[in-house]
Amino acid sequence: LFASVELAPRDPILGLNEQFKADTRSNKVNLGVGVYYDDEGRIPLLESVRKAETALLADAAARSYLPIEGIGSYNQGAQKLLLGADAPQIAEGRVLTVQALGGTGALKIGADFLRSLLPQARVAISNPSWENHRALFERAGFPVETYAYYDAETHGLDFEGMKDSLNALPEQSIVVLHACCHNPTGVDPTLAQWQEIASIVKARNLVPFLDIAYQGFGDGLAQDAAVVRLFANANISMLISSSFSKSFSLYGERVGALTLVTASADEATRVLSQVKRVIRTNYSNPPIHGGSVVSRVLNNPELFQLWEDELGGMRDRIREMRHQLVEKLRDRAPDHDFSFVLTQRGMFSYSGLNAEQVEQLRAEHGIYAVSSGRICVAALNSGNIDYVASAIATVLK
Ligand code: PMP
Repeated sequence: LFASVELAPRDPILGLNEQFKADTRSNKVNLGVGVYYDDEGRIPLLESVRKAETALLADAAARSYLPIEGIGSYNQGAQKLLLGADAPQIAEGRVLTVQALGGTGALKIGADFLRSLLPQARVAISNPSWENHRALFERAGFPVETYAYYDAETHGLDFEGMKDSLNALPEQSIVVLHACCHNPTGVDPTLAQWQEIASIVKARNLVPFLDIAYQGFGDGLAQDAAVVRLFANANISMLISSSFSKSFSLYGERVGALTLVTASADEATRVLSQVKRVIRTNYSNPPIHGGSVVSRVLNNPELFQLWEDELGGMRDRIREMRHQLVEKLRDRAPDHDFSFVLTQRGMFSYSGLNAEQVEQLRAEHGIYAVSSGRICVAALNSGNIDYVASAIATVLK
């Protein structure tokens, strides 16, 4: 039966992690990951999460099945975080949210739903994008192409190219947009640019699928959702996949949500019934624990404040690492300008290092990065940043 099955290629980033684990050098540094580490190099257990879990344990209950769409208070919390608690779209009953297995699960449920709704559509993702976007939408049955995004010359956004690409897409093409903290580049459109993008999406009748996996890591919870609110206020129907993996440091709990903003309450009811069918035939209903923890934090003002402060702490630490990296590289490699690292947002930076330099970092210094030059700024800390800056300066020579 399985004799003809070919070996699948290794996931490039998970493969890098395996290589890192096997490396015996004590000063090795893994900048290839997509995970936030604290200054001690540990994945933090947030105090808000610990408190919510303690409270949950105190009134532990039996675990029956959840409804297909998951925990209601979790979904409402996720929705408010995206659109704002007072969003008119929510009051009008036009927004529906289902609990999903991480941001990836939300993308998958959304992709499967869209595939039956728009079987002829194509999907456009940014060039470059999170590696799994292409694979996930292709597996859902869509042809996937890219729209212009990153400008390697300026280390910024190729906005003219992006607009041209979007304007050239056939009507009802699905456009996957990173709402904030673009992975892998760290380059985001400005609010004024998002406004222009919204106009194109509307004029060309495109279907936006906003992916927000790093809400709170850019400028703040509300600020990072600006594009979601801008699209909603422009009366654009859309899908949004959101993830709490990073913002709650709950990677393994698979906490995400799929939110759809529709044109009417009646539409929302019909859409929800179809999205539930997709879930029912995939995994029936989501797990309880992670969603309960997040729901408790989102719906308890004290825990929410604590969480927002902790998230702010993570954001500030990343920013501080960006500043220090730029400063240390200015000292060690004065011929190279890395100031663009300061304008990039979120966990990642497209460092501008080429594949050869990345390989040299790995082979000679035990520093692991993605071959595209993507580094995870959130993996830098006061103990490794001097070493990393010196090594980068060496490979630049
Ligand atoms: N979208 C983007 C852009 C991401 O970077 C990630 C996480 N690497 C995801 C979605 C998936 O998030 P999760 O781990 O919650 O499935």
